Amino acid sequence: MADVPPAVSERKPLTRITKDRQRAERPPPCRQCHARSWWNGWRVVFPMVATLVAGIVEQWELPLAKAKCGSCKHSFTCYPPGIYPRRRYQLDVVADVAGAMVLGGASATRAAAEVHATSSSARRWVLWVAALAEPRDLLATAARLDPDAAAGAGLGVLPARAPAAHVLAALEQLGCALLHAGVAMVERTGLGRVLGWQHAAHGAVFGLGDAGLHPSPATVLGCEKGDT
Ligand SMILES: [Zn+2]
Repeated sequence: MADVPPAVSERKPLTRITKDRQRAERPPPCRQCHARSWWNGWRVVFPMVATLVAGIVEQWELPLAKAKCGSCKHSFTCYPPGIYPRRRYQLDVVADVAGAMVLGGASATRAAAEVHATSSSARRWVLWVAALAEPRDLLATAARLDPDAAAGAGLGVLPARAPAAHVLAALEQLGCALLHAGVAMVERTGLGRVLGWQHAAHGAVFGLGDAGLHPSPATVLGCEKGDT
């Protein structure tokens, strides 16, 4: 199949959406010392957000509420569900692009053009996903959360030389297991669900270049909704 980037005239227009300021009456307690905190202004970010349709993205102008601890003076930003810190391209977008490349056979140029990103970003995302976690760790956690699911099903047919494909497939299974365990998530992809859950429950943020995602079933239960 010919895989050439769409001409500019064919490219889907980018929808820009301005979000209203939204915050709870009081901020959550400080994650570092658990003391009370107070609201401390706003900062505006411009994330690229996936829609329910893979390959269609929107750019948001999104005000994020900032808070400050009344005791230790730690400042932190409160993120709404589905928005991941320090990422212009949100996790579901990254998962869609990486999946199109390593599972769908799309070129970096075409996969990136779909979401108004650069091909070098798309290649970087694939490398990041490949190094993010060991598929067997993800599948082991998924199997313990949801013993009835066929953990690892389908991974055997993936090419051994495409580690990102294995990680993405294992993340999908763990994401489904999290849903099965009752974790509420707005993300659509396994990558988005697993990392979004790690962030919401534990404040863990995995930036580009970060690896070492080691989820544990125990961390699902009794976790608190986080804020950082
Ligand atoms: Zn504090």
